[in-house]
Amino acid sequence: MESLNQTDSLPLYESFYSLQGEGCHSGKAAFFIRLGGCDVCCDFCDSKSTWNAKRSSLTPVSEIVDNVLQAGADTVIVTGGEPTVHNLEPLCRLLKENNLACFLETSGNHHITGEWDWICLSPKLNSPPLAENLQRANELKVIIKHPADLEWAEENAALTDACLLFLQAEWSVHEKITPYIIDYIKQNTQWILSVQMHKYIGIE
Ligand code: SF4
Repeated sequence: MESLNQTDSLPLYESFYSLQGEGCHSGKAAFFIRLGGCDVCCDFCDSKSTWNAKRSSLTPVSEIVDNVLQAGADTVIVTGGEPTVHNLEPLCRLLKENNLACFLETSGNHHITGEWDWICLSPKLNSPPLAENLQRANELKVIIKHPADLEWAEENAALTDACLLFLQAEWSVHEKITPYIIDYIKQNTQWILSVQMHKYIGIE
């Protein structure tokens, strides 16, 4: 494996090999790289401990990629936090050099660095995505907490290009809001329901 300059480091909050729990690739094996640092600050965030990047360990990308290779994974999901607050190009480059598929999960509120095989963009109203990122997204995943969030979903979908469209209930209200989402999808069939499968079966 080609070595990189040790200054190519990222704040690693945690990494683990599991299954993608939501969206288009739900149920597929993937190695998760969760980076620290987020400036979006959603009220429903279930990863608040990642917001401050100083609470993560600054880790060389070579070590991060070594962990993926040791796990035997073929697909990596880079998530956060909000990973695009960092320069992801060195990490992507090394993942690609090792023939690993690179998937990104982002709110899209910063310019996206690096080459990605799949971009899942989950837009947040309090820090909206850049138009350039909506154009690049392969998958739009909108979190629905109130029925009014469906308008936000449509506003973002209108700015995408050949993108799969998912609606996902905000977990704390999923029992109450899911029937609204199902009714909406039955009338607007371009949308697909995303269920947080990992929370039902108790995996990371
Ligand atoms: S963008 Fe993600 S990590 Fe950041 S606050 Fe929102 S849900 Fe949490």
